[in-house]
Amino acid sequence: MLTQNLGYPRIGSHRELKKVCENYWAAKTGHKTVLQVGKNIRQENWQMQKQTGIAIIPSNDFSFYDQVLDHSLMFGAIPKRYNEVILKKGNTELDLYFAMARGYQQDGLDIIAMEMTKWFDTNYHYLVPEFYKNQQFKLFSTKIIDEFYEAKQLGITTKPVLIGPISYLLLGKEKENGFEKIDLIKNLLPVYIDILTRLDALNVEYVQFDEPFLALDLNEKEQKAFQETYRQISNAFPRLKIVLATYFDALDNNTELAASLPITVLHIDLVRAPQQLDKVLEVLGDRTILSLGLVDGRNIWKNDFENSLSIIDHAVKKIGEERVWIAPSCSLIHSPCDLDNETNEKTLTPEIKQWMAFAKQKIAEVVVLKQLATKEQGTAAETKFAENKLAQQNRKTSDLIHNPEVKTRVKAIVTKDAERLNVFSTRKMKQRAALNLPAYTTTTIGSFPQTTEVRSWRAKYKKGDLSQKQYDDLIADETAKAVKWQEEIGLDVLVHGEFERNDMVEYFGEQLEGFTFSKNGWVQSYGSRCVKPPIIYGDVKRPEPMTLNWTVYAQSLTSKYMKGMLTGPVTILQWSFVRNDQPRAETCTQIALAIRDEVCDLEKAGIKIIQIDEPAIREGLPLRKEAWQNYLNWAIKAFRISASGVQDETQIHTHMCYSEFNDIIKNIADMDADVITIETSRSQMELLDVFADFNYPNEIGPGVYDIHSPRVPKREEMIHLLKKAKAVIPQEQLWVNPDCGLKTRGWDETKKALIEMVEAAKEMRKD
Ligand code: GLN
Ligand code: ZN
Repeated sequence: MLTQNLGYPRIGSHRELKKVCENYWAAKTGHKTVLQVGKNIRQENWQMQKQTGIAIIPSNDFSFYDQVLDHSLMFGAIPKRYNEVILKKGNTELDLYFAMARGYQQDGLDIIAMEMTKWFDTNYHYLVPEFYKNQQFKLFSTKIIDEFYEAKQLGITTKPVLIGPISYLLLGKEKENGFEKIDLIKNLLPVYIDILTRLDALNVEYVQFDEPFLALDLNEKEQKAFQETYRQISNAFPRLKIVLATYFDALDNNTELAASLPITVLHIDLVRAPQQLDKVLEVLGDRTILSLGLVDGRNIWKNDFENSLSIIDHAVKKIGEERVWIAPSCSLIHSPCDLDNETNEKTLTPEIKQWMAFAKQKIAEVVVLKQLATKEQGTAAETKFAENKLAQQNRKTSDLIHNPEVKTRVKAIVTKDAERLNVFSTRKMKQRAALNLPAYTTTTIGSFPQTTEVRSWRAKYKKGDLSQKQYDDLIADETAKAVKWQEEIGLDVLVHGEFERNDMVEYFGEQLEGFTFSKNGWVQSYGSRCVKPPIIYGDVKRPEPMTLNWTVYAQSLTSKYMKGMLTGPVTILQWSFVRNDQPRAETCTQIALAIRDEVCDLEKAGIKIIQIDEPAIREGLPLRKEAWQNYLNWAIKAFRISASGVQDETQIHTHMCYSEFNDIIKNIADMDADVITIETSRSQMELLDVFADFNYPNEIGPGVYDIHSPRVPKREEMIHLLKKAKAVIPQEQLWVNPDCGLKTRGWDETKKALIEMVEAAKEMRKD
């Protein structure tokens, strides 16, 4: 029995990588320093894994920005527009790489970055390979070989990690018509062979091929490509031991396919899909080793040793100890680095901390599990088992987690709690009469610029350099200015600006029971951007109103309507580390009740319009289509529970900023928000067609300008978009607003853009 790791976080346990990259981009540090910091991080990671006792340690899991981009560079899949960056004297491979990641605006060149998208159902984003007809590949970057060699110099023979050829192709995008990306396999495979030849010359033993697409729905052509490709690789390198890694879901209907491939080790994710074990054991080839992904790479909870040991035991009984490996469920880049750095007992109490494990602790868990399973002598494994059992016991019974009042309330939910009092057509009449808003009502999505100044107040307040009162006064002042300015330019429905909020989830998490926060639990989101998700450890309860004071204060400053601004239950769930001792649906429902109470309090305080943001509903969709309906059922219901405690006259808005509504439009309609604001400007309103085709009955605010760029849109452009909207959606259903919140923008461009937007709406009212 061996232990392996699939990938380790590369940001450094104090975000060293982020810091050095950002300094390099700002020309504050040189190329050599960046390379050195990368080298240090790799070395530290390898040595830590070795010292902990991991047998098969990965290399090429390091990346300066993104592992998919690394592969595009490795294969020479470099879009032509970067040629000038390559040719520019003094530019290094790293400069080209960062240009592909971030775009290149220098020396008279203005080249856009590659597109970024979500890595399966994680919050990690990768750079999408761009494919053209007859695309040729050739070995361009030797990073994988260099890093293998680098580890070898340190006395560690690693297992280089490659994204498998099929998954690499499927992750990409066809940039012209007339071909299918999967057909490029014949051009791509020779580069893999080239790389493997070089690794072979350095006496590589194991190579890991990540093929996460094996856990997704595959068509026949893709299945064939898997068979053909791996047959060719294994024919070319009979000595090479291939570790095929799958994760994030079950192999299901691809089990036979995966088991039929000529590989040495098959890795499966038993955290996400424990139910797949028996089928895999049944069809696995006689000599194939099974790597059990038991330690959760996507969450921060300690492994339950007792449970894992029973799974290991089950597998060993079936296929024997020599054919079982122990591993994390997936690469650990989705976990924070090191729990030992969490030393602030106020933010993370010792009781909660003892239930948790970050990447470094997970590595140790893998090793201890193996020691326990093989009854290895002379280790402290038995003591660790006892500790683990105690921690599990404590977690199961802790008062911190269980709040009977919350559980009872969830159980008591009845159908009508998820239904407004009357249907939309009735509510619409009542809202029209009560609110008396003009046609093409103008509003914004919630946040106004979070300037460096605003953020500095919060930092000072947290450090104790500003008192509560001083901080509140500053925020109140900023809010008042924003309200006054919105009135001046003639917006119809105002917002308070969200100046008091650090982040749309954290702000709520900080005020809810059942949430806690780490100090250093950063996880890479993309490039140098890291997020620190809140941790939901227990039953969620709202001890007190969360947004009432600021909203009521803002309303008191104006006779116009002030929109109450909340984050929805699905988004709060989706952007947090979630407890794993109860179904996600249950946790989501608890959050929904907390938001519902907030909605009702806002209504009671005289707020007539309340927005519940749900930008994360779509990203929560399971990887396999067959699981969609179940998720949508509970997710949409949670939103409805949060929104349904109010009178018909109270107008509920929701906001979503993503582009694909096609396959879920029915569910979006089921949310039954009175008004939905969406991102549409970048598609030139094309996204509205889905709503039009569906005869979406409620009101819609299609974004009329893109907030991702500082560019100020022209009035005519917005009029043009509104006319396009009006052509497909009845005008009495339309609102006028930007695509999303304005927190990342500066005041100057925000003001100019919104003045134009209000004028565009006025223009529309004329005919
Ligand atoms: N109300 C939030 C804001 O304006 C919405 C953010 C979002 O959609 N991601 O910032
Ligand atoms: Zn948005």
